[in-house]
Amino acid sequence: MPNSPDSLGSSPKPLEVIIVGGGPCALATAISVTLAGHKATIFEAAEKAHSFGAGLQSSPNGTQLFSRWGLYDILKPVATAPTLLHIHSLDGRPLARRESYEDEVLRRYGSPLWTFQRVDLQAGLHRRAIELGVNINYSSRVIEFASSRPGIELENGERHHGDLVVVADGTWSTLRSKVLGEPINPQPTGDMAYRIDIDRAQIQDKELLKLMSLQQIRLWVGPGSFAVGYPVGGGTKFSVLLLLPDNFQTGNSSASAIIEEMRKRLKDWDPISMSLTAMLDVVRRVNKWRLVHGELFIRGNYSSEEISLTNDISTVPPPPTLLASQTMCVLAGDCGHSIPPFLEQSLNLGLEDAATLGCLLSHVTSLTQLPRATALYDRLRTSRARELLEETEIHEGELRMANGKLQMRRDNEMAESLNKDNDWMYPKIQEWIWSYDAYEEAEKAYLNEPY
Ligand SMILES: Cc1cc2nc3c(=O)[nH]c(=O)nc-3n(C[C@H](O)[C@H](O)[C@H](O)COP(=O)(O)OP(=O)(O)OC[C@H]3O[C@@H](n4cnc5c(N)ncnc54)[C@H](O)[C@@H]3O)c2cc1C
Repeated sequence: MPNSPDSLGSSPKPLEVIIVGGGPCALATAISVTLAGHKATIFEAAEKAHSFGAGLQSSPNGTQLFSRWGLYDILKPVATAPTLLHIHSLDGRPLARRESYEDEVLRRYGSPLWTFQRVDLQAGLHRRAIELGVNINYSSRVIEFASSRPGIELENGERHHGDLVVVADGTWSTLRSKVLGEPINPQPTGDMAYRIDIDRAQIQDKELLKLMSLQQIRLWVGPGSFAVGYPVGGGTKFSVLLLLPDNFQTGNSSASAIIEEMRKRLKDWDPISMSLTAMLDVVRRVNKWRLVHGELFIRGNYSSEEISLTNDISTVPPPPTLLASQTMCVLAGDCGHSIPPFLEQSLNLGLEDAATLGCLLSHVTSLTQLPRATALYDRLRTSRARELLEETEIHEGELRMANGKLQMRRDNEMAESLNKDNDWMYPKIQEWIWSYDAYEEAEKAYLNEPY
């Protein structure tokens, strides 16, 4: 292991790493590069850490990094490790059920699957970053990126320079176009998402309370639609993500208007809609947004026309590695790879980015090594993100299959595989996604091509 939570790396002259954004990926990157022996400074546009955001899942490829970074004990009290996985069709038929899920995940991958609220994750990462001495600047919107001498310019005119700039300003990044030198506009996927969070303390309905008391991940799959719910806030809340075909309308986006809209769209989901609509009766916070693809635009030189004409992304040629040119800048997190949430891997990919960069930088003791380290980072992360994007598309097709022969076959396979002791619903996919060890992979790549 190149570094551990309590020992800093041995670089004689620490690199100055500037990080744009203060979301989970930016904070994780700051922690990881600090533990690698370098100095991290964060510039976040918001006045303070965002106080909203609903549920997120972190599978073992993500949670194992929390242990490496000294975050396990900080996050454990606000996380839930679901003990039950439950899959239903939209009309309410149970398709599959897996008991002792928590034990099984631990046994197979050595680290748990956790669900939590984004705010809790963010607070934990923030606390650990501060403990490690990361300098975090709020109200610091970055408007320019300087390539000649790595640095940034803030809205207020301040300029800051370092050795490396990590841009982690999210899906709607304004910086990545500047970094890559071409306009990049994430494209709609044709779907939209609704998010609701329900406080258990507000629920009177006994059936609903029973449903929400289970430490479960509950999936609803059906033609064109998909929903997933799980406990967050250490089990005090239940968070539901609903994905439906995009009919996004701007205009009145108050909570009550969105809830009314959801109610209409859920009316045919019976009897499942009863539990979902019962949840809508008590929900206080709700959000909706349009899903977009980002990764292919970001990593490759593709025009939006090329992408929108290409449904099968495997026919798109691999993207050139352009992040680690002479600019001494890398992209990380959603800004580098926006992936629709059918495998719930966006957060984990960002955590893996952070770990990969930290590991590769732990071997950098002089500035002359930096271009090779960032080139390696780019290669590792681009191929991982592409593979995950492809798997996400396959998985999405499986989950939202139209009713018919194929769907009946899927339902039968699901029931069989989930009832067998040694099998999983999608064993091959899960194995390579969940057992990925970002430190090990980066270390292997470094040993193959040391700098
Ligand atoms: C407020 C918020 C709520 C979210 N809620 C959910 C949710 O409920 N469920 C879910 O699955 N996912 C949610 N997401 C997305 C999810 O958190 C991310 O997919 C994932 O955590 C990856 O994080 P990231 O750090 O790459 O990007 P993000 O979490 O998007 O963070 C990017 C950060 O960069 C900052 N920023 C943007 N532009 C600039 C700039 N020019 N200069 C400086 N800073 C800038 C933003 O303020 C933000 O804090 C949310 C994201 C945000 C920002």
